[in-house]
Amino acid sequence: MLVLTIESSCDETSAAVVRDGQQVLANIVASQVDVHARYGGVVPELASRKHMQAISVVIDEALEKAGVTLDDIEGIAVTRGPGLVGALLVGLATAKALAFARNIPLVGVHHMEGHILAPLLEQEVAFPYLALAVSGGHSHLYRVDGIGRYQILGRTLDDAAGEAFDKVAKLLGLGYPGGAVVDRLAAEGDPAAIDFPRPLLHKDNFDFSFSGIKTAMLYHVKAQSGPIQGQQLKDVAASFQQAVVEVLCKKTLRAARQFDLQRIVVAGGVACNKGLRRMMAEMAAEQGREVFFPSPALCQDNAAMLGVAGNAYLEQGLCADLDLNARVNWPLDQVGATLD
Ligand code: ATP
Ligand code: MG
Ligand code: FE
Repeated sequence: MLVLTIESSCDETSAAVVRDGQQVLANIVASQVDVHARYGGVVPELASRKHMQAISVVIDEALEKAGVTLDDIEGIAVTRGPGLVGALLVGLATAKALAFARNIPLVGVHHMEGHILAPLLEQEVAFPYLALAVSGGHSHLYRVDGIGRYQILGRTLDDAAGEAFDKVAKLLGLGYPGGAVVDRLAAEGDPAAIDFPRPLLHKDNFDFSFSGIKTAMLYHVKAQSGPIQGQQLKDVAASFQQAVVEVLCKKTLRAARQFDLQRIVVAGGVACNKGLRRMMAEMAAEQGREVFFPSPALCQDNAAMLGVAGNAYLEQGLCADLDLNARVNWPLDQVGATLD
C-alpha cells in the first residue's frame, strides 16, 4: 500500500511517502527551530501558524521526491496526538481534506508509536521488544508486543530526557534546543569531572526523574565566579550527559532483564545522542541483548515513522471518520481501543 504520512505535533512540519510500511520513498521535514530559538522554547501559536505555511509545501515536495502523485496514494496516516493542539489540528485538517477530496482512507497514529516503530523502516526487529522513548516530551519505557499492542512500564515523573538536555543547555548559555550541542561538547569532556546525582537509579521501578540533575546543574553554575567556558564547559557537559545516560541505560537494561525482553529499541530525538548510543550498546552486549537505534533522521520528528503503524492499520481497515479529532493527552497503551 502506498501511504502518505503527515506529522505536525510540535515544531516540525513533515510529510512522507511510505510503501508497504517498509520502504521510505520520501521523508521531507521543515523544522521551525529558528522561529522558536529566540524565545528559548516552542511558542504554540507560532508553531500552528508555521505549520499552516509549510504543510502543503512539504506534501508537494514529498510526492515529487517520491515520484508519485496524489492519484497513486492509497491511504493517509496522520499524527493524532499527543502534542500541541493547534499544531496537531493543522496536520489533521489537511489529512482529512485530502482523504475527503480523493476518497481515500485515513487513520490517526500516536506520535510515540511512530517513534518506537521507526527502526522497522530500516531493519527487522522481531516482537516483543522493549522500547526506550527519549524525546522532548517523553522518557518512557514500553513493552511492544506488536503494532498497536503497547504496555507502559515506566515514565518520567517530571522533566523528559530531552527537556533536561534543553534546559541544561540553556543554563550553560548554549541556546535552544541544546541537546545536540551538549552531545558535541561532551565528546571532548571528562564524564567523571562532576558527580551529578543519578535520580531513581536504585528505586525498584522503571520511572525516571531528571529535574534533580537540572537543579544540581543550576547550583553548579551559580557557584562559579564567572561563565563556564573552554575545557570546563566540556567537562560539565560530559558529566551531565553521563548522569542522564547512565540512569537511562541501567534502568532500561534492568527492565529488559525483569521482563525477559531480548531486543531493545531506543527512539526519539535523544536517541541521536552519541553517549547514549555507546553506553546502551555496551551494556546490552554485556547482557547478550540486541539493541536497535533508528538512524538520526528517523529519531528526530519526521512523518515517515508513522508509516509502519499507519500502513498496518489501513490494511486492516481500521480507518477513521472525517470527525477524527486531536488527542492532546493520549497514553500509548490506549491506542488499540481508540483508533477511530
Ligand atoms: P515528543 O516526541 O516527546 O513529543 P518532541 O517531538 O519535541 O517530543 P523529538 O523531536 O523527538 O521531541 O526530540 C527532540 C529532543 O531531542 C530535543 O529535546 C533535543 O534537544 C533532543 N536531542 C536531539 N539531538 C540530541 C542529542 N544528540 N543529544 C541529546 N538530546 C538530543
Ligand atoms: Mg521537535
Ligand atoms: Fe517526537
